[in-house]
Amino acid sequence: MGYIKGHDRYQTTLFPETIDDYITENNQVRVIDVFIDSLNVVALGFTHAIPCNLGRPAYDPKDLLKLYLYGFLNRIRSSRRLEHEAIRNIEVIWLLKKLRPDFKTIADFRKDNKKALTKVFRDFTKLCDEWDLLGKELVAIDGSKYRAVNSRRNNFSKKKLDRHIQYINEKIEKYMDDLDAGDEAEKGDRKPDAEEIHKRIQELKARKEKYTGFKQQLEDSGQNEISTTDPDARLMCNNNNNVDVSYNVQTTVDGRHKLIADFKVTTKPNDLGELDNMALRVKKMYGKTFTVLADKGYYKATDLKRCVENGLTTYVTKQIFSNGTGDRDFYLDRFQYDKEKNVYLCPAGKELHYSKPRKSKGKVIGYDYNNFQACSNCTFKERCTKSKKGRVVCRHVDQDFLDQIDIQTEEHFETYKLRQMIVEHPFGTIKRGWGAYYFLTKGKNSVSAEIALAYLSYNFKRVLNILGAEEMIRRLKVRGELALV
Ligand code: SF4
Repeated sequence: MGYIKGHDRYQTTLFPETIDDYITENNQVRVIDVFIDSLNVVALGFTHAIPCNLGRPAYDPKDLLKLYLYGFLNRIRSSRRLEHEAIRNIEVIWLLKKLRPDFKTIADFRKDNKKALTKVFRDFTKLCDEWDLLGKELVAIDGSKYRAVNSRRNNFSKKKLDRHIQYINEKIEKYMDDLDAGDEAEKGDRKPDAEEIHKRIQELKARKEKYTGFKQQLEDSGQNEISTTDPDARLMCNNNNNVDVSYNVQTTVDGRHKLIADFKVTTKPNDLGELDNMALRVKKMYGKTFTVLADKGYYKATDLKRCVENGLTTYVTKQIFSNGTGDRDFYLDRFQYDKEKNVYLCPAGKELHYSKPRKSKGKVIGYDYNNFQACSNCTFKERCTKSKKGRVVCRHVDQDFLDQIDIQTEEHFETYKLRQMIVEHPFGTIKRGWGAYYFLTKGKNSVSAEIALAYLSYNFKRVLNILGAEEMIRRLKVRGELALV
């Protein structure tokens, strides 16, 4: 017995075949096609949404949007690769009806429709709501770092610039000495002559000028760092404790089906200060209150208070502060507060008494407690503090409120544990599964559009898995018919 044989490449087909024959009934491209066709691209603000009667006809924005959505769902993000797929991939050939836009047209579409792409994400979230796929009871908020188009070499802080400039100054000085002495500049095998040394000095001076310019820019802008390829990107620590020039994308995920409800691209290296902002945006969208889950990165009294004041229930793990010596037995959480006596009981059993308010920028931020006399005779002093006088413990000005949040989170820890499952699902799918852990575009607005496409694709895929292709097509068609009424 031989193998299963393919068709003869040179056989002329006897009966006409259609491209549609190659696309199964429940293929995702059919859903993409119906979904994008149902969009009102004029209302969404896409360029060329209304065809122009003059000049060469443009591509329909719906066709290019279909191509991008298909690409993201299949790990194809770059415009050059999408161009290629339009030629060789039967699904894309079906989807675009054999249109073959070049990479520039594809890239320009994304560049020219930044806001509109974000609106498509929001429109699909609205659709999920209409289809009752958002639970609106429980949401998890977290930030994730996506690498920017900017290498670490092209990111400069004042310290780094000073280091470079100092190195150049030393190098120039050394070359000058070599020139004066008429001696060789380097002790290697090769001996640069005076002409070459002059050339090198000029190069170093040019570099120095560039770095001095960056330093001036830093001073003028009041920023801490400068990124030369993507000026909006910032140096951040990622989950693996590596440092990369990135964006921090704040994401709110609904608990029922792990659908992304909202997102915001930030240039802040941490999540502190984003909880109330993100939670209240979703509250406005949902039109009701809900429970918010977030990790200790969001533990900030003012943000938590604002959430509570707006009727939201927050389960957020507390931030435990180190004592400076790094000994866990003497971290702040090992000090017990006695409310009646207004004292802290330290791990050695000594009472720390109130001493004075602690201020920052003229504002009281907490109250200091200490007992230097007890500390001076304590055998644990080396483990407890680096201060010669003794340990000082600061009670936050809103500590009573924070204690309530801690008790509430502790009591509902089973619910809190869902946080990771909910919020890590999209991050795992997009970053690990689809390999989209880095941006291809530059600038905050562009990366916002890029992440909107990624999140739209993620939600689209989730809904496809939940409802199935046929049901999704049916619902989309009903929506389209209702829109026409
Ligand atoms: S050093 Fe002071 S605060 Fe620390 S354990 Fe000893 S007595 Fe308590």
